[in-house]
Amino acid sequence: MAHTPERTCILCRSKFSKTELIRVVRLNGEFFLDETHKKDGRGAYLCSKCRESDDLLKKRALDRAFRVRVPDEIYGLLKGEHNG
Ligand SMILES: [Zn+2]
Repeated sequence: MAHTPERTCILCRSKFSKTELIRVVRLNGEFFLDETHKKDGRGAYLCSKCRESDDLLKKRALDRAFRVRVPDEIYGLLKGEHNG
């Protein structure tokens, strides 16, 4: 039986199948939104609701997930940018 991998959203801590989540990747000290889930590097996952939540920036949830300062620009991309 095929099993869809589940990942935990870093903000609401709910579990979702990978395809429902946006992945943020840190690679060589830079951050990227990984819409295709194919980039290497350390990743953090956010559900579609939390990526637009004000709490994401208020709590600096990405900073905590990566244990480094994540540029505000990345938070802005999550909140404002939609592909498709
Ligand atoms: Zn969430």
